[in-house]
Amino acid sequence: MVDSYKKIISDIKDEGLYKAERTITSTQNIEISTEQDSNVLNFCANNYLGLANNQEIIATAKKALDDYGFGMASVRFICGTQTVHKNLEKVISHYFSSDDTILYTSCFDANGGLFETLLTDKDAVISDSLNHASIIDGIRLCKAERFRYKNSDMEDLEKQLRNSQNANIRMIATDGVFSMDGYIAKLDQITVLAKKYDALVMVDDCHATGFLGKTGRGSAEYHNVMDKIDLWTSTLGKALGGASGGFTTGKKELIDILRQRSRPYLFSNTLSPSIAAAGIKAFEMLSDSTLLRDKLEKNTKYFRSEITKIGFDIKKGTHPIVPIMIYNAKIAQQMASDLLEEGIYVVGFFYPVVPKDEARIRVQISAAMSKKHIDHAISAFEKAGKRFKII
Ligand SMILES: *Cc1c(COP(=O)(O)O)cnc(C)c1O
Repeated sequence: MVDSYKKIISDIKDEGLYKAERTITSTQNIEISTEQDSNVLNFCANNYLGLANNQEIIATAKKALDDYGFGMASVRFICGTQTVHKNLEKVISHYFSSDDTILYTSCFDANGGLFETLLTDKDAVISDSLNHASIIDGIRLCKAERFRYKNSDMEDLEKQLRNSQNANIRMIATDGVFSMDGYIAKLDQITVLAKKYDALVMVDDCHATGFLGKTGRGSAEYHNVMDKIDLWTSTLGKALGGASGGFTTGKKELIDILRQRSRPYLFSNTLSPSIAAAGIKAFEMLSDSTLLRDKLEKNTKYFRSEITKIGFDIKKGTHPIVPIMIYNAKIAQQMASDLLEEGIYVVGFFYPVVPKDEARIRVQISAAMSKKHIDHAISAFEKAGKRFKII
């Protein structure tokens, strides 16, 4: 029996899609070491604000180990709720100016437990075609009728909203930022359509919470529509320290129901208290000051302008995800490995993760990068780009 899986694995390898993992031997940081390479610069982490190795956050987590212990060994509604969990929920609600928040151990779980709980077979969900795997899986679990619109295509969204008018409740579900392109969802227009067709709006803001928008509240703040979103899901596993943990925040009635019926919340262990305490610290730091998101914005502008100046095509925009278009899958792969030899850790993305002939190297900028780090990356890209005759 197991032999049939061997065949699948060798097929994956034959297609060049087998994923090997690089093992990091240092902390997660801009300057890292791996089992193969020492002193490389990490340009592919979701460590947007550099909090993955922030000393204040580490100190907070250590203190929480003493104050609250290691683990809860329980789901929330039996004996898995401590003051840190309630406090983190309050801090997140305050950050989003939302009514209430429910924690999950990941955003994958937040999305997995959302649609099935809030939508029945009399309802409809209208989903962007480029939504994250966890939204897609969450929607698969629910019985609502499914409608899909082309990525950020507002005409198509309106068409799907018209097609779903017979449903009782309609919910539009979108990523706040599409991670392969660094494009920000058109929440200004989505919320207008939602009002016109009386639909709820759910935004997964994993690649935006903490840094996008002028005070870091995310894609809705970027579009100035914070008060028009019904539900956000997001993660503590990216900009907010990068450990793990997710949440859903929004309208009180919706969060109440999730707390009663959402399966990953009811049937999975609660977040460890040290992570909850560190999450509070991260949100407090970002509420007190916009210095980190400002630095990230400045670094992103600088990188985007320099990489364009030396002749690369990038997906235009303002997000710290910067897709550098190589187009050819093989070259993208070879160039990523050349860049690693130059001390820059980046990854090539190609079909089926992105459309055919749109292979790219996706760079992610961080507030923890210095000008020197970025200049090093630019000169490595220049050298590799010339070698492969791309620039
Ligand atoms: C990373 C990501 C997730 C998963 O978050 P975890 O907390 O790591 O489970 C979900 N949605 C989007 C859009 C993401 O980018």
